[in-house]
Amino acid sequence: MNRVEERFAYWWDKASRLVPKPSKITVEERTDAGDNGRHFAYCEYLSGDTIIAYSPDMVELPQRYIDGIILHEIGHAVDFSYTQPELEEMFGYKLDLEDEGRADEIAEMILGETVQYDLPKYVQCVGPACTGGRRPHNLL
Ligand SMILES: [Zn+2]
Repeated sequence: MNRVEERFAYWWDKASRLVPKPSKITVEERTDAGDNGRHFAYCEYLSGDTIIAYSPDMVELPQRYIDGIILHEIGHAVDFSYTQPELEEMFGYKLDLEDEGRADEIAEMILGETVQYDLPKYVQCVGPACTGGRRPHNLL
């Protein structure tokens, strides 16, 4: 298991105790997950299977970025497992209508960590060393 898979296992172990009936998630390295920019991973849901794909270079990132990216993708994975009304009922909270912002909100509701977007590249980041703040609304 590499650093990305170890950190995913750490966070998903916590998340799966706090979210009822969590979907099974497969984590795999894929060259198409990176763009040599701010993207290092994506989450997809295909006929009942949730896959988090990460780029080979993600393992080289500082841990605060690895954790930020993983938390964001776990937010998507949980989002795919439930309808928005089910999630809002579960959390007692009105979620963002936009899926990228909603992924961060879900991660924060479940795991208590705020996903930030570190400057200058707006890579997801978690912890006191991050400087970017929450996701800008127009970020792709
Ligand atoms: Zn996303």
